[in-house]
Amino acid sequence: MIGVLALQGNFDSHIKILEKINLNHKLVKTIDDLNSLNGLIIPGGESTTITNLLRRNQSLIDGINNLSQHKPILGSCAGLILMSKESNDSRVHNFGFLDIITSRNAYGRQVHSFEASIKVKNDTISSDIQVLFIRAPKVDEVNRSVDILATFKQEIVAVRQGKHIGISCHPELLDETLIHEICFKGKK
Ligand code: GLN
Repeated sequence: MIGVLALQGNFDSHIKILEKINLNHKLVKTIDDLNSLNGLIIPGGESTTITNLLRRNQSLIDGINNLSQHKPILGSCAGLILMSKESNDSRVHNFGFLDIITSRNAYGRQVHSFEASIKVKNDTISSDIQVLFIRAPKVDEVNRSVDILATFKQEIVAVRQGKHIGISCHPELLDETLIHEICFKGKK
């Protein structure tokens, strides 16, 4: 059972991907929803808004921290920002599951949204997937303990640290399942 944090943002499109790869899912709004999860998705949306909603619910923050010690967390776009160690914006909660520094909205505004092909690469996979960049963050710094999972025009757009994956764009909006399969099905 994979949870999708459903405080704000595009959680439905992640549900569709989980269905496509035959993983049970549920929406997560409170700490109780974290029970018996095998993983969690933090979707895109507005990281400041998700933060405001999280900060009203400290037990949910604590529960997500606990879950992260044993189960994979996947964050896309705003989710990547929340998962990073630092994003230089006090309005954003940084869980710090990924030892990276991100900067918000670094590809420009909503009107500068674009579709692109990114290169996903690890020891065994080398694949191009289509994604949408929507007010996407940039990954400015990565610690040595972090693996680079995808790049676009030499820039880092997805990273992996242990079980956790963060991606700055949206594969789920273009029906791409690869990142979810790597994170939750151990696809190699
Ligand atoms: N710009 C948003 C933020 O800073 C993220 C955009 C997205 O998730 N598509 O939170």
